[in-house]
Amino acid sequence: MGAGLSGLACAITLEKNGIQPTIFEKRSRIGDRFVNGEVLLSIFTRPVHDCIASLSEEFGIYLQPTSNIQKMTIISKNEKAIIEGQLGFTNIRGREEDSFETQLSRQVKSPIHFHSEETYEQLLANYTHVVLATGDGHYAKKTRNFREDLTVSIKGATVEGEFDRYAVMTWVDYDIAPYGYGYLIPFSEKEANIVIAIPDIPSNRGVELCERWEPFHQKVRSELGQPLSITDKFQITNYPMGICKSARIGNTFYVGNCFGSMMPFMGFGQYAALLTGVYAAYDICGLGKFEELSIPLRQSYENSLVLRRTMEHIGNQDVDRVIRMLQGYLGKKLFQTKRLNPLKIASYLMRPYVKYKQGVTS
Ligand SMILES: Cc1cc2nc3c(=O)[nH]c(=O)nc-3n(C[C@H](O)[C@H](O)[C@H](O)COP(=O)(O)OP(=O)(O)OC[C@H]3O[C@@H](n4cnc5c(N)ncnc54)[C@H](O)[C@@H]3O)c2cc1C
Repeated sequence: MGAGLSGLACAITLEKNGIQPTIFEKRSRIGDRFVNGEVLLSIFTRPVHDCIASLSEEFGIYLQPTSNIQKMTIISKNEKAIIEGQLGFTNIRGREEDSFETQLSRQVKSPIHFHSEETYEQLLANYTHVVLATGDGHYAKKTRNFREDLTVSIKGATVEGEFDRYAVMTWVDYDIAPYGYGYLIPFSEKEANIVIAIPDIPSNRGVELCERWEPFHQKVRSELGQPLSITDKFQITNYPMGICKSARIGNTFYVGNCFGSMMPFMGFGQYAALLTGVYAAYDICGLGKFEELSIPLRQSYENSLVLRRTMEHIGNQDVDRVIRMLQGYLGKKLFQTKRLNPLKIASYLMRPYVKYKQGVTS
């Protein structure tokens, strides 16, 4: 149910193992939503460094990103860190020909039923197994199998200008996006996506996303010294992030965001979405147990949640300090050393702090 990243990865894997799934997609075509740029950062996919290579070699899933990231600029209120090296990939999502979901759909042979109005309950009555891949926690919540941890409101736009397609930028400045972040991801030399994301937490009560947009757009414009005219826009309000309690209940499988693939720290979820799709298929084919295979993803989610909570308890001065540390040897080491899992280390270090802070506020 759902022909997005996780649903299609599942279908491809089932087909490779001799099972022909029936795919139901609510929309009229693949990726029939806004177009946006996303990234796969190797720092968040450890122990795998090159997830595009790993997807093809280990799982037979072939994806062509828009480009490989060679430079990432992280800007806080008063500091800037530039990290260089092979950092990951950028890719397009949505209705474009080269979006990740469109590329996956070309690898699927089974028919896709578009405009589907089938409910989960109807599918359950008619099929031996149901894979919930709808890109949100709705059915996981409905079946009492979801722990929602936060919601986030996101506003983004496609802008025209001159961009280095091998470079991405991110802003962690609470004056602009309190407890959240903004970023720029190029689609090409001429187009980029700029996005601001703000968590819907009590400290952000009264913060209007729309009012934050113009200062953010202005900040990006002055950083790049370009007018950056907007050609397309999107907005998502109260996007839920959470994780399912069980990856499989009976013959229902929770994959992608229905599983909890979207990491609360910075919203990364593509790689985990693809993996959950593959793992659910393995389980259906008797090649492994989804629940066991997904343990590392569950752990990453929990680690990411610690970092998200940390972000909610610190201020611009602390963020400046972190960015200052990242500029130089430490940044290079964290992003380049393949054996290190910085997400895991940082979450272990920050756990007592988050516990203490939560104790103080509760
Ligand atoms: C603005 C934004 C930016 C992001 N940036 C990044 C990033 O930079 N890096 C990263 O790794 N992750 C990022 N993510 C997260 C990532 O996009 C998701 O984690 C990932 O797409 C989840 O895959 P999925 O298969 O669960 O859902 P999707 O790929 O969204 O697919 C869900 C599919 O299910 C269909 N569907 C929904 N309901 C039904 C229904 N009832 N019946 C049938 N079909 C249905 C939908 O139409 C859709 O086609 C971002 C998310 C957002 C919103």
